[in-house]
Order: sequence, then structure tokens, then C-alpha cells
Amino acid sequence: MVLLKNINELKVWCASQKSIGFVPTMGALHAGHLSLVKAATLQSETVLVSIFVNPTQFDEVEDLENYPNTLDDDLTLLKASGVSAVFLPDFDQLYPDDYRYQLSENDFSMALCGAHRPGHFDGVLTVVMKLFNLVKPAKAFFGEKDYQQLRLIRGMVKAFFLDVEVVPCPIIREKDGLAMSSRNMRLSKKEREIAPQLFKIISSGQSIERMQKMIEAAGFELDYLTTQGDRLLVAATLGEIRLIDNVPYNNLRTLKKPVELRSVETCPSKPSNVE
Ligand code: AMP
Repeated sequence: MVLLKNINELKVWCASQKSIGFVPTMGALHAGHLSLVKAATLQSETVLVSIFVNPTQFDEVEDLENYPNTLDDDLTLLKASGVSAVFLPDFDQLYPDDYRYQLSENDFSMALCGAHRPGHFDGVLTVVMKLFNLVKPAKAFFGEKDYQQLRLIRGMVKAFFLDVEVVPCPIIREKDGLAMSSRNMRLSKKEREIAPQLFKIISSGQSIERMQKMIEAAGFELDYLTTQGDRLLVAATLGEIRLIDNVPYNNLRTLKKPVELRSVETCPSKPSNVE
């Protein structure tokens, strides 16, 4: 596995590859990330993973400062997963303009998480555009866990005629249903016990109003609980940690079938439909 620490090394490496499957991450890798890597290895000749904690998408300094860093473990996991190369840029490499140039979407990015995290999606879209321009991947893999992000990246690809296929990958959960997230490791023991309630409640088939009450009664501070297409999306804070999740949902207010818990082993290699 090749480590690419700067843009020059990245460009030379990418130029020597026929077709790249790309998995952008912020590190602190878990089975959710590895499911994207697995999908990429099944669908691409070579797989490039980037690890970059992108400061421009953090709306709170504390969240950025406390973001977990497990680089050595991450590299061990990626090597064992058959990844060809890992790109490890720093801020100066990726932002020679010091973020004077930004990419923004002015509609959906303002809703849901965007309404609670000003500038978040500008940071996400800007860094993903930079990475796409550098890597020029044939396919890029994103998790449905960050459903709004996935929709916005697909929208950006369409709007700017980017020659990359965005492949959505299903949410990977812990055994108790909690959607895997790098932030979960910052939950206290008590919060970790409460956290799976979020998934249980949004999969319960109750009315939205009832679910709102249940989420708050469980001890969460609710940011939003709303439907978007055939999804029910939630964001709620437990202590200091903001959790997001989503499940398939139909207008009859009941789930057609229970949400399947997926582990990396059962994660399909074929994409599911997001739009
Ligand atoms: P992050 O490192 O949080 O920026 O996430 C990198 C990628 O992994 C994004 O496309 C996320 O949507 C995806 N991801 C994170 N957690 C999960 C999960 N539990 N299941 C599936 N994909 C995930």
C-alpha cells in the first residue's frame, strides 16, 4: 500500500492508474468506512482512500479539536483491506487559497444539517471537488449514513458535469442498531447505552409527532426529524455528541419491512438507490 503525502506524489501515482475507485474519509475508521472500501475493491481496479480531517466543514472548533485521530490503526485496516494507496494531505496542500474560493449549493444545503451547521456543506462540497479534481476517480464511494451529503455530492457532480460515478453504500450499524460513526467513541458509557434508542425509535413506525416525543423522552436534544423522499432523517444531540441517522420510510407512516442490520460482511457490492 502506497502512502501519498503530497499532491505531487498523488498526481504521479494517479497518472499511472487505469481506473480509480476513490473513498474519501476523515479517518478514525470503522466498519462503515470499510464497507465503502470493500465496495470499491469489488468495483474498481485500484482503490485510493484519502484521510483528511477537513477543517472547513466543522462549524464548531471544539468538534474539530476533539475529532479522533487513529492514523496507525487506520493504515493497518486499509492495508488489510487491500487498498492500493492512501492520500494523506494537509490543509496547506489542499487549500493553497486558504479557503478564499468555495463551492456552495444554495437550496438543499441550507436545510436539515445545513440549518444547524452553518457552512458545513460548503466545506464538504469544496473539499470533495478539490479531491475529485486531483484524483479524477472513475467511481467514488459515499455512505448513505450521511444522506444529505450524498445527495448534495450527486447534485454537484451533475451540476458541474464531473466525470465520476457516485456510488451510494448502505449504513453499517453496531449490533444494537446504532449507526457506526467516528464520533460514537466520544459517547460516555451512559450515552452509549441510550444512543441505539435513536435508531429503534425512527424504525418504530410511529407517527413523526410520537417519535419526536420518544426521542426527547429518551434524553436526546432533537435537531430535526423529517421525511425526505422515501427516507426518514434524524439529527439529535446526546450530551456533546450530535448523531445522525436515517431509515427508509413510506408515507403511510409505517415501515414496509424492518430495517436490516448490515455488517461489512453482508454489505452488498452493488449500490442501492438513493434518489
Ligand atoms: P467520514 O470519515 O465521517 O467523513 O465518512 C467517510 C465516508 O464514510 C462517508 O461517505 C460516510 O457517509 C461514510 N460512512 C460513515 N459512517 C458510515 C456508516 N455507518 N455506514 C456507511 N457509511 C458510513
